Amino acid sequence: RSIWQDIPQGPPDAILGVSEAFKKDPSPDKINLGVGAYRTEEGKPLVLNVVRKAEQKIINSPTENKEYLGITGNPKFNELSAKLAFGESSSVIREGRNATVQALSGTGSLRVGAEFLAQHYPVHTVLLPNPTWANHNKIFPLAGIKDVRKYRYFKPATKGLDYEGMIQDLQSAPEGAIVVLHACAHNPTGVDPTSEQWRGILKAVQQKRLLPFFDSAYQGFASGDLERDAAAIRLFADAGLELLLAQSYAKNMGLYGERVGALTVVTRSAEVTNRVESQLKQVIRPMFSNPPRHGAAIVVEVLSDPRLYAEWREELKGMAGRIIEMRKQLLQALKEVGVPGTWDHVVHQIGMFSFLGVSKEQVRVMTEKHHVYLTQDGRISMAGLSSSKCRYLAEAINDAVR
Ligand code: PMP
Repeated sequence: RSIWQDIPQGPPDAILGVSEAFKKDPSPDKINLGVGAYRTEEGKPLVLNVVRKAEQKIINSPTENKEYLGITGNPKFNELSAKLAFGESSSVIREGRNATVQALSGTGSLRVGAEFLAQHYPVHTVLLPNPTWANHNKIFPLAGIKDVRKYRYFKPATKGLDYEGMIQDLQSAPEGAIVVLHACAHNPTGVDPTSEQWRGILKAVQQKRLLPFFDSAYQGFASGDLERDAAAIRLFADAGLELLLAQSYAKNMGLYGERVGALTVVTRSAEVTNRVESQLKQVIRPMFSNPPRHGAAIVVEVLSDPRLYAEWREELKGMAGRIIEMRKQLLQALKEVGVPGTWDHVVHQIGMFSFLGVSKEQVRVMTEKHHVYLTQDGRISMAGLSSSKCRYLAEAINDAVR
């Protein structure tokens, strides 16, 4: 008899479970729209050219070794990551008000940030958009931020932003609550505020002295433009707010499995920032001691070599462009097939995902009858789609919604 004889079976992961089911399906028509990773038009994973070049440089460097990084990771990586998010000329950077530490991709950065807040921030309430990336719901309470609340975000009637609801919920939040904001390409809805709406959100955050925690998992991947996708972060930083930021290079550099990301805490002075950084070390050391070298070294090569940087921007535009193109082709196919209802949201939404606005039952029909795999909330990964499959998908949607 095992010590764990009676251990209950854990629930399957809502997203990874979709891929499991997909793998088991023998149908040649099957499409996997569950994955949160970029695929080429041929449905293959993509390693960016700049990443291959950077890796060659790293491997060939005579000084390269496998020593430990410091607790906060690769210093050059941290510096370049902060500049990428806030902009070269940001007062945050100029004044040394950012404590930026390397962590394990977006997830690890969020977790380190949440642990830091649990220990060094008095308000243990966090507001998450409804809906949000499911992992947010676990990361905060497990780190010690126990009071998890939702603010209105997606409006089913318009399949767009519930701006009024969002502002009302921020205004009625407890003073000083932490508020998680998706910097761009909101997951799972693909719905982002306009720049005018971001200014309204900033005002509500300032009124209630909320503490913004930006989750930036898609900079450059959403619009194809690194500056544009950082606009919300920069708006808040330039307004002088203290805030947190979790960055991921999973999507924009295709470094998913390398687990490379950064957490930044912005404060009001360089002096406070130094002490904050000393406490971030206290969080990291007993958690994973120090982060891995390789992914961060790749990012440093790409961001610091002007030729690689320029090439990266082009590759980013290519990935974002293919996704935007898929949105157009899917909308076209939905119209041609004559699917009832309006589907313009498919092209208005941005980033990796589109929230179709179909019911669980309709998702079931799409999967069981048509071998189209997606999460139960009706989210499809646009990156998993290709031109040759738009018509098939539109017909599956048509059958499901009628
Ligand atoms: N936040 C959001 C909103 C995401 O969509 C993702 C990726 N699915 C992440 C964070 C973190 O991903 P990773 O840990 O792979 O960087």
